[in-house]
Parts: sequence; structure tokens; C-alpha cells
Amino acid sequence: MSNVDLSGVAKVYDDDLLAVEDVDLAVEDGEFLVMVGPSGCGKSTTLRMIAGLETATAGEIEIGDRVVNDVRPQDRDIAMVFQNYALYPHMTVRENMSFGLRLAEHDDGEIESRVEEAAELLEIPELLDQLPKQLSGGQQQRVALGRAIVRDPDVFLMDEPLSNLDAKLRTQMRTELQRIQEELGVTTIYVTHDQTEAMTMGDRIAILDDGELQQVAAPKTCYDRPNNEFVAGFIGSPSMNFFDVTATPTDDGVALAGTGFETNLPIDLPAGEYTLGVRPEDLAIATGDGHIDTVVDVVEPMGADNFIYLQPAEGSGEITARVDSEYHPEPGSTISLGFDPADVHFFGEDGERVPLDDEPKTVTTA
Ligand code: ADP
Repeated sequence: MSNVDLSGVAKVYDDDLLAVEDVDLAVEDGEFLVMVGPSGCGKSTTLRMIAGLETATAGEIEIGDRVVNDVRPQDRDIAMVFQNYALYPHMTVRENMSFGLRLAEHDDGEIESRVEEAAELLEIPELLDQLPKQLSGGQQQRVALGRAIVRDPDVFLMDEPLSNLDAKLRTQMRTELQRIQEELGVTTIYVTHDQTEAMTMGDRIAILDDGELQQVAAPKTCYDRPNNEFVAGFIGSPSMNFFDVTATPTDDGVALAGTGFETNLPIDLPAGEYTLGVRPEDLAIATGDGHIDTVVDVVEPMGADNFIYLQPAEGSGEITARVDSEYHPEPGSTISLGFDPADVHFFGEDGERVPLDDEPKTVTTA
């Protein structure tokens, strides 16, 4: 078993900076967990504590049911892959991949077969006798992965491994990495600041902000039922639109009023102040009376669809709508936007999600 369990893990750096705060996280055996959040939120610190490159100030870290807080990094059965793949320039691919195994004094036959196997899996057997400088960025990243794979670790820890690659290659390597991880079935914790990587790669994603876990769930759950306003704004691109509204229950639902925003929805919502969230893809140009009156600012054609940036007819702020590419309204024109009541999210004054009828209450950690 190579599950990874963090309980109450915290990190305070010398200058009293609380980089990671009371993190509870259970990564299952064989799972691909993506840790995501904005720069400085504590992702790398958390990963480095699991690796043993930083000491946890508080809490317990278990790998495969063994508490590893006091275990040296080299004895933790983990392999790390970094953004900076740092291959030895004067060594061939084969030598780069076998270097760690030679240090660990494995026998030659064993080393050879592990390297060949990893090269097959990574589809680079023809590169084994080349030098790093003869390889493309993507090929070099494969070699770096190969170096981790040959060690046959219990856990892979990856810190932004694809961010040095260009956009097209990054997309390809995302799929590749998922395939390789699935074939090997090795528990993987993958750190990125890129929500697209998190959405597309993870079995589950763990979203961090300011050192604190915000939600741990399947990507679709984070998208459909974000725990709080932070997750709602972070997951999904373009970001969710937010409106401050006052809710007043009526006979057949609730009346919502805000600056430039007035509508009735057939839902049960207690009276109070809320932030209403609606995703750009859930906004539609209303044929009749919509929910929000807006003025078109800019239309950005994306091919299959258009991103329309608008301003509310009253008040200030920016609204983004993602609509069919057929719709190309003139900048300056007034349009009314509508949405399906099932597609709106409500957050309380504390920023937490307000679950609506028949919606399960979400939990921070799973
Ligand atoms: P992320 O990986 O999410 O970008 P980090 O884990 O690198 O975030 O950093 C979290 C916080 O800890 C940041 O405020 C960062 O400046 C601080 N930090 C990271 N490493 C150190 C260090 N070695 N010494 C002091 N502060 C650090």
C-alpha cells in the first residue's frame, strides 16, 4: 500500500511565515492527486514536506502507513520530478536514467532491464544513446520522468513538471503522463498553478489558498459545486461572474436585487445578503427579458464560441459570457443576459457555498 496521509500538517518558516496551515489530506493508493492553487499558496512546501526536503512544523505525514516525519528523503520510497529537469549534460539518456540505480548499487542486468522498460513506456528507446543537448524539451522531460520511473518508487511527487514546455507539447504530455501513471498505478501527487492541468489530469484535485486546503474532490465536483467563492473563481476559465445580491423570499421563490441586477428565481433561499455566481458558459443572451442588463464591451472570437466582455447597465464591474460564435453583438450595444436557475451558485457573507434544495452539502476534505 502506498497511500499518503497528511494530518494537521503545518509549516512555519524561520521568519514566522505560516506557509501551510493544518492540512488534512488522504491520497489513496494509486491515485493521481493534483494540488493546485495560486503562486505562494503553499503547494511546493507541502510537496517538499512529503518528500522530506522540508521538515513539517506540526502534524504527521504517513506514506504507506509508515509515519515518515523523521525518515530521510532517500528512505521514503518517493521519486520527484521537477520543472527544471536538470539532466547531466555529459551523460547519455541511458546513463542519466541509470545513474540513481548505479548509486544504489543495483546489478547491471537489473539496471539495463529497468531502463529499457521505462524507455519503452515513455516511447523513447531510440534516444537512449543520445546526449540531452540532442533532445527537444519534451524529450528531455520524458528522460527526467524515466529517471523517476526506473527507481520504482511507491509515490511520484511532481512539481510543475510541464511548465517549461510550449503549449502544444504541454497538452500532449498531460495525456502521456496520465497514460503512464495509469499503467504504472503509482500514487502520484502533482503540483501545478494551472487549473486546466488540474481539471484534466487529476482523479481528484486539492485546492489550496493561502496555506489552507479549500476543497478536495473530483474535478467535476469542484466545478459543479465549489465549496466557496475562492474555488468558484479559481476553477473554470474564464472565471465565474459574481454579483452582490439581496434575497427576499416571495410566494413562489426568491427575489434577488443588486446593482443592475433584479430577478426572481423559483428557488428556496433564506432572506439575506449573498454573492451570486454564474459561469460565463452558463450565461445566455436572452431573447425576452433576461436577468441582467448589460452593455457590450469587447467580443473575443475563440473559434467555436465567442467570449463577450460586458459591463452591467448600472453600476460597475466586468461580466464575461461565453456564447455561440453565431452571436457577435456590436460593442456598445445593450443586451440582456439570462441563466438557468439550476446553474447559479450562492455564497454567504463568509464566502462559503450555500447549498440549495436537494444539493448535497459539500465537505472540505474527502
Ligand atoms: P507555491 O508552491 O504554492 O507557489 P510555496 O510553497 O513555494 O508556494 O510558498 C509558500 C509560502 O512560503 C510563500 O509565501 C513563500 O514565499 C514561502 N516560502 C517558500 N519557501 C520558503 C523558504 N525556504 N523560506 C521562507 N519562506 C518560504
